[in-house]
Amino acid sequence: MFRAEAEAASESARRDVQGRQLHELVQVLKNCRSDFWLDRLDGIEAADIRTVDDLQQLPFTTKADLRDNYPWGMLAVPRSLTVRAHASSGTSGRPTIVAYTSRDVTLFAEVVARSLVCAGARSEDVLHVAYGYGLFTGGLGLHYGGEKLGATVIPASGGNTELQLQLLTDLRADGLAATPSFAMLLAERAAHQGLTGLNVRYLVCGAEPWSEGFRGKLEAAWTELAGHPVIARDIYGLSEVIGPGVAMECAESPGSLHVFDDHFLPEILDPETDKRVPDGQRGELVLTTVTKEALPVVRYRTGDVTALQRGTCACGRTHPRIARIEGRTDDMLIVRGVNVFPREIETVLLEAEELNGAYAIVVDRRETMVSLDIHAEVAGTVPPEGLADHLRHRLTSRLRVTPRVTLHPEDTLPRTAVGKVKRVYERLDDTDPLGLPRSD
Ligand SMILES: [Zn+2]
Repeated sequence: MFRAEAEAASESARRDVQGRQLHELVQVLKNCRSDFWLDRLDGIEAADIRTVDDLQQLPFTTKADLRDNYPWGMLAVPRSLTVRAHASSGTSGRPTIVAYTSRDVTLFAEVVARSLVCAGARSEDVLHVAYGYGLFTGGLGLHYGGEKLGATVIPASGGNTELQLQLLTDLRADGLAATPSFAMLLAERAAHQGLTGLNVRYLVCGAEPWSEGFRGKLEAAWTELAGHPVIARDIYGLSEVIGPGVAMECAESPGSLHVFDDHFLPEILDPETDKRVPDGQRGELVLTTVTKEALPVVRYRTGDVTALQRGTCACGRTHPRIARIEGRTDDMLIVRGVNVFPREIETVLLEAEELNGAYAIVVDRRETMVSLDIHAEVAGTVPPEGLADHLRHRLTSRLRVTPRVTLHPEDTLPRTAVGKVKRVYERLDDTDPLGLPRSD
């Protein structure tokens, strides 16, 4: 561990500190000169916010708030006290600007250093950072975290794979920080060139969604190049909260990420009711920064779907853990009062070797009771006996809703020629949204 006194603190010690920090945060925001915060916290008294449970009395913040108060409106300190700003591109219109004080920059490096150690990094390592440097928080975030750890950081940034492979080989990098797709591209090019004996032990991957299946392929490709086991671990973060380093998978427990909750308080909410869900249940991740100065966020709605798990991990860390992100709340379907995330359906379907991966989800709204139809293609022309029943059973236990499952020969379901693949369809009348031949 990089900071054992924080990372392995007891649950009760953790809660005491968090309550105090939260109280101080509200006090600071109510006394800062930002009209946004004065308005947002109107009617809230710092005296009433003493424990983590009091978080639920506080209002939310969203990406729209950042956009509406572009560029500096949400700063809790005078702009002159900030030392750096990053920007994330908005899907429409203005970018989102985030800013850091000197202490925030130190905090950013601290949580990234912890994250690197989670993946197995050591101070004597060479760390090759192939995230983009610039307005995006990935490059500089991993860079200063690596330096904080004491590693020798190579600021390779993106692009120029030939030079990157030469540096990875000649400088004997122990760790590679990159998006999963770029880490895979590097592995493919290295294999193509016949490179072997690379020194890399761990990959720190994030900034885009990647599945467990992809992890398996990525680890296998790098293990082949290195001639020893290479692990790939998921780093989570978002610039509105700080950047990468909000949460990190450890070497011992892939599949769940430690949230550094002495700085970022996690909550999981039902996106429909905005109420907290019990631990272990999926919902929207909402984060509160309790130690950031320039741009603290209160109950920031990430839109990311995950579940929270508590208890000490095999690695000894006591931070709560979030499951790897299972999708976005924007994608959520509500079927008979149950929240269903399309990614969960995909997970079950991709596990079945008899299927070829093409599928479609139809939310049938013709009756008052909404039903869920799942169509999937088999590899070949004849669906194996009992497969539809087996899948229905698997999906029911995962989703807590019973879908209808229909299997089709390959090349039956509609294909998306351009852009994002369309998987979810609505059925409102007798027109079949998939345009399939009638079976009756
Ligand atoms: Zn752990």
